[in-house]
Amino acid sequence: MEPSRWPHVAEASDGTLTLVAAEGVTSSVVRALADGAAPPPPFSVRSFAPLPAASYEERPITVDQTNHSVIVGESVVVKWFPRPVRGPHPALGPLAHLADFARTARPYAAIFWEDAPVALVTAYLPDARDGWEWCVDEAVRGGMEFAAEIGRLAAELHLAMATPSRTFPDPVRLPPAEAVPVVYGKRAEEALDAALALTASENVADSADGAWLAARAAVLRGELVPLALPVRTPLIRIHGDLHVGQILRWRGGYAVVDFDGNPTVAADDAEAFQPAARDLAQLATSLDHVGQVAIRRRTVDPAEVARWVTITRSELVGAYTAALDEAGRAELLDRSLLRPFEIEQECRELIYAARHLPRWRYAPMGVLRSWFT
Ligand code: ADP
Ligand code: MG
Ligand code: MG
Repeated sequence: MEPSRWPHVAEASDGTLTLVAAEGVTSSVVRALADGAAPPPPFSVRSFAPLPAASYEERPITVDQTNHSVIVGESVVVKWFPRPVRGPHPALGPLAHLADFARTARPYAAIFWEDAPVALVTAYLPDARDGWEWCVDEAVRGGMEFAAEIGRLAAELHLAMATPSRTFPDPVRLPPAEAVPVVYGKRAEEALDAALALTASENVADSADGAWLAARAAVLRGELVPLALPVRTPLIRIHGDLHVGQILRWRGGYAVVDFDGNPTVAADDAEAFQPAARDLAQLATSLDHVGQVAIRRRTVDPAEVARWVTITRSELVGAYTAALDEAGRAELLDRSLLRPFEIEQECRELIYAARHLPRWRYAPMGVLRSWFT
């Protein structure tokens, strides 16, 4: 048998790692994993479940993504991290905890280089498209049935997150009286300040956006006040980056993927515990973003899209709340936190646009303008 080919990992003098998985490497690694072959040191593997025996044809996923995902044998996805970071990866705990949660891609294995996680291997969901495709299509055609379905999916995810497992025997934290609210309020204010600074007229080409935002700084700050009050809901491990792009529509329905957390927020364990409202707020505002994308990229009536956003958001939140109620866990959602978390999320979108993707600014600006005319 030919020796397996593994990716190339390089360590720079400042300690940063880069990984390159050349063509053919992913299929070779998956074959080695399926055969149970020992990885060449310093690679190691943590197995969650046996890989399906399959063919080993590989093809890359080409949608916008943070990492580099490759499909092998139409049955497995390997998500390589191009810039691996030493230490625990935020997705590993949640994936192990969610082993029995049917509505995500089943995890098979995690691959490490020394102590740095370098890839996650999960089941491939056939015919999957993410929400930046399927949901924009829904906005264009005025389809709304999906909203209740993904609202329920988000609730099921949170209920599963809040159910003890061997990995997380203690997955719910009762609100500490004082420490936490200060953190949320302060964090949101910092996001607002950064968004204002980065969008200020001298920092962006279109000064109208900066001026518009600056004129509403006080109003936006006022919206954040509930985050500075004592938290009344339990804290759970949330998804942390829940937007429609992480919700795949596939042959078997809807599934939620990508437990890496929010790339714009530093991850630590305390950060993992949050009010469920943060995820729901992000998912709801992503419908606003879908509306902005539809208006910019497709032929639609903006007034119709605005109506679509209003209705689908309300169905989403309604279905989410109903599912928590049904499960007797209504206390997981504090609705008073939704709006402030939504405002914070839009600030984070502006920060992301300013730092990484200037052409995205139209989306959060369009959303804020629609909220505060
Ligand atoms: P990233 O961290 O790079 O955003 P994701 O886990 O969100 O990675 O995956 C990126 C994209 O790959 C998704 O938006 C989706 O289009 C596709 N994808 C991810 N996981 C699967 C899967 N299990 N089956 C099919 N497609 C997937
Ligand atoms: Mg990600
Ligand atoms: Mg993603």
